[in-house]
Amino acid sequence: MRVDVLGVAFDNVTMDEAVERGLELLEQEGSHLVVTPNPEIVQRASKDPEFSEILSRADLVIPDGVGIIYAARILGRPLKGRVPGIDFASALLGRVAGTGKRLFLLGAAPGVAQQAAVNLQAAYPGLVVCGAHDGYFKEDGPVIEAIRAARADIVFVCLGFPKQEKWIAANGEAAGARLYIGLGGSLDVFAGKVERAPERFQRLGLEWLYRLMKEPSRIGRMAKLPVFLVSAVRARITEK
Ligand code: UDP
Repeated sequence: MRVDVLGVAFDNVTMDEAVERGLELLEQEGSHLVVTPNPEIVQRASKDPEFSEILSRADLVIPDGVGIIYAARILGRPLKGRVPGIDFASALLGRVAGTGKRLFLLGAAPGVAQQAAVNLQAAYPGLVVCGAHDGYFKEDGPVIEAIRAARADIVFVCLGFPKQEKWIAANGEAAGARLYIGLGGSLDVFAGKVERAPERFQRLGLEWLYRLMKEPSRIGRMAKLPVFLVSAVRARITEK
């Protein structure tokens, strides 16, 4: 059963359960979508019906940010815990490396996906990265063809939200892969262009604070978090 957090229904899964579901989807016919919403994505979905509809049809919806966990708690239906998209992706790669499954990386500035491919293959011996493409293309056709020709099983789509989810909904089937995961800025991290917060910050759920210290220009985006939690409080009161 899914847990509704301000209009987005989340799967109540631990990291291990999420990875197991991902592996199951990889074995099922058809193309599947995994989304990793944080509070910004939930807020966007509330104003964008097309985006909201895509999220509701996703095969796996994992709670990316600590803000989602807080909101779920405020709403009185707590989730098991945070499952950061990038950690989910890494854990999945740990399981598929050596199995022959083929990974395609789509997104970020030119050269970043290629660098991420090199780093991931070093980190996960036996991982097959079958192709990479930057995220600043004008036409979808050649990208779909590249994924199809590479015979990809898994595609990390890192175009930022809601572009990545809309791209997958429109083109996933045609590109022929089984599992598409929308992962925002993850390729920049895998490529070593953007540093992740140290473990201490991650453990305390303060990754957002570290990011803010590194990139103070994100303050505008992050100021939305308190608004998000206030919405949760308001929803809890009206639900009673
Ligand atoms: N991006 C892209 N194509 C676009 C717009 C963005 O490939 O048309 C990439 C961008 O280079 C970055 C990622 O999408 O690598 C979005 O990163 P951000 O940190 O904003 O995403 P978040 O993880 O916060 O959703």
